[in-house]
Amino acid sequence: MESVIVAIDGPSGTGKSSTSRAVAAELGLSYLDTGAQYRAITWWMLTNGIDVDDPGAVAAVCGKPAIESGTDPLAPAISVDGADAAGPIRTREVTSKVSAVSAVPEVRARITGLQRAIAAAAEKGIVVEGRDIGTTVLPAADVKIFLTASPEARAARRSGELKGREAADLASTREALIRRDAADSGRKTSPLAKADDAVEVDTTELTLQQVIECVVALVEEKRAGR
Ligand code: C5P
Repeated sequence: MESVIVAIDGPSGTGKSSTSRAVAAELGLSYLDTGAQYRAITWWMLTNGIDVDDPGAVAAVCGKPAIESGTDPLAPAISVDGADAAGPIRTREVTSKVSAVSAVPEVRARITGLQRAIAAAAEKGIVVEGRDIGTTVLPAADVKIFLTASPEARAARRSGELKGREAADLASTREALIRRDAADSGRKTSPLAKADDAVEVDTTELTLQQVIECVVALVEEKRAGR
């Protein structure tokens, strides 16, 4: 079977991660969570005392951390300088600062390079999820999907994922999501955007299983047609 590259983009809370992992597992493909890479570099900046609101300071050091991403959809993993970062990258502090760091062009250039190398090394193919995969990172991807959902549905899903101290009420989760999407869509360098040739799937009224089936069908259709 030929290798296939699947790009899945969209704002937060649309089910990108769950869908991407399940599709990759079902089709025997590798998986890359590009948001985790931007979170990892943000976490490194915060723990090293870098002022993340100063793009010059961020650009000056963004080549330093060694960021390694696992590509097994059944066991997603990320490490920074050899230390497991899967937990620390999900804190509210990292979430609130990641858009500022990911808007810095030097950061994007570095992380995009890592992403392309990982995709090129995936022999059977890969599902890559993010914001700019279909437009910028892998514009020649075989299948491009853009997931959307209403702000209410996205906030409800995200609230359900947060636990314990990090759990926020629905209204503040919704506000934080909208703020982050506005920053990600409004930045100059490779903003969150739908590629012209991407298939848009509105997940508001769909179950996760339905979204997975829809994406698997699109990939199989593409494979059958070439
Ligand atoms: O997907 P996740 O919510 O973990 O992404 C965290 C952040 O990483 C996004 O809000 C965005 O600022 C950044 N990101 C990006 N480009 C990508 C993936 C994520 O700028 N391809």
